[in-house]
Amino acid sequence: MSAPTAPTKPTNFLRQIIENHLAEGTHAGRHWGGSPGDAAHHAAGQVDTAKIRTRFPPEPNGYLHVGHAKSICLNFGLARDYDGICHLRFDDTNPEKEEQEYVDSIKEAVRWLGFDWQDAQGNNYLYYASDYFDFMHRAAVYLIEQGLAYVDEQSAEDMRANRGDFTTPGKDSPFRSRSVADNLERFADMKDGKLADGAAVLRAKIDMAAPNINMRDPAIYRIRRATHHNTGDQWCIYPMYTFAHPIEDALEHITHSICTLEFEDQRPFYDWLLDHLREGGLIVTPQSRQYEFSRLNLTYVVTSKRKLKHLVDNGIVSGWDDPRMPTIMGLRRRGFTPASIRDFCERIGVTKDYAWIDYSLLELCLREDLEHQAHRAMVVLDPVALELTNWAEVFGSDAHIEACELPALPKGENIPLRQFGLGRQVWIEREDFEETPPKGYKRLFPGNKVRLKGGYVIECTGCEKDADGHITKVLATVVPDTKSGTPGADSVKVKAAITWVSQHDAVEAEVRLYDRLFTDAQPDAGGKDFLALLNPGSLKTVTAYVEPSLASAQPDDKYQFERFGYFVADRTDHRADKPVFNKITGLRDSWGK
Ligand code: ATP
Ligand code: MG
Repeated sequence: MSAPTAPTKPTNFLRQIIENHLAEGTHAGRHWGGSPGDAAHHAAGQVDTAKIRTRFPPEPNGYLHVGHAKSICLNFGLARDYDGICHLRFDDTNPEKEEQEYVDSIKEAVRWLGFDWQDAQGNNYLYYASDYFDFMHRAAVYLIEQGLAYVDEQSAEDMRANRGDFTTPGKDSPFRSRSVADNLERFADMKDGKLADGAAVLRAKIDMAAPNINMRDPAIYRIRRATHHNTGDQWCIYPMYTFAHPIEDALEHITHSICTLEFEDQRPFYDWLLDHLREGGLIVTPQSRQYEFSRLNLTYVVTSKRKLKHLVDNGIVSGWDDPRMPTIMGLRRRGFTPASIRDFCERIGVTKDYAWIDYSLLELCLREDLEHQAHRAMVVLDPVALELTNWAEVFGSDAHIEACELPALPKGENIPLRQFGLGRQVWIEREDFEETPPKGYKRLFPGNKVRLKGGYVIECTGCEKDADGHITKVLATVVPDTKSGTPGADSVKVKAAITWVSQHDAVEAEVRLYDRLFTDAQPDAGGKDFLALLNPGSLKTVTAYVEPSLASAQPDDKYQFERFGYFVADRTDHRADKPVFNKITGLRDSWGK
């Protein structure tokens, strides 16, 4: 797989399992040496018997989120690290919720994260569950023929009631003892559109008293008249996920079928189904095995496509890629880098333990990635004018511009310089001036000196106010060096350097100050209403002035705005003549406490 090499590979239980299988030669692919007995059914074609195969199997019913990133990094990462193959497979068995837009966005997200389902030899490991609908139908007919499945026409209500619960065994359906011939005919009726949606389901015939409720005759086919994004109106019956998934794995020769823990109770059915299909010769590959790990729970976000879709559909966010969304497309637009997300997924590890990961870990990974590469820039987010009143006396003319420069990065070799000018009229942060300074305040107040970072030392002389007493302008003078008389020379010692931009070359920009989307660390845990926990301050937009080096920013370019944090030129809205920057995160964690 052509994917970037992970910096560190802490071991985990799945790596252990795979390493053991590879050492002992006991992973499924190794046992299966023959030519595909039924090649038409075995989508993956030629099998490299020594390779492990994993898959990432999203349902295309929404955009991927950060939890999926964990699964992508895990599945594609294992294939990369053990010279295996990872399939991208769309689990598209649910036509009414699935759309081509989601298929496209999922592909884009996987590639953006740095993984690929196509290898350098041109092999394309991209699959759709819907490609196997014929085979799945045949498998269902086989189960009926073996007396292992029946068409149930109980009402949905009765079916639910007769399922029992954790303490009560289920009751057999009156349709459970139908003859094979009767079942075959009824299933054909389902397929041929002779029954209404929901009028019947095909169920596996296992054991209504099984302690594991998933083994109480699970539904395997249902009737649903809906146009499928891939098969159109060809089918009006669709396989259930629990039936489809093991078949997909088997047909694709998946050796390690890795999923989240909520599927643990479905493993017995996974094995039951594949054992029976193998018995009947429908499946000739060795057993695909399912392994479970715990899902990612990340604080301050919700990771459920259904809930994220609600935010989109109700206009609570601007779309699936709103920079506050924990979708991969949202994280990309917010300014997160693929490397920072992969690093995050490595650091959180893979276990079977229930845990919540703090959102600040994701931000830490971003800071560590950008610290050494994001060019620095000065910006003024809350501007107030500053006038240097002795400008003409010092420089001979009010129109004079002093050329200034600062390195784009604090350390390293061949660091480019950012050029900017300083003139009589400057913008500074409103909070950098206090008429009556609080104790310990070191910035501008009448009589105090500070350095304009990368520019000169100035001394505050006062301010101007409007009729309401609102400060409209801060006044200061340039301080010549006491020895040389040159302004700004280093012998003038000051306690603070403030950020600024000169009014003559500053660029006006829209800056979107994003914050957590929710005020609660676990907005949807324990039955909480996540919609009541939205952070009203999750987006503040300000008109800012930014230094002239940012005039050449391209969409997706990332910067460290000095003192404020990391920002990115918005990939959708940024224009050279109308710059828009998104705040990714601050310079340090302010949520930890
Ligand atoms: P959602 O609940 O958001 O709809 P899902 O599990 O239904 O998620 P799928 O498209 O079926 O979404 O998921 C594809 C793969 O991603 C599955 O193997 C699933 O186990 C995995 N996955 C989904 N959410 C997480 C998560 N939070 N952490 C780790 N893996 C996840
Ligand atoms: Mg799912």
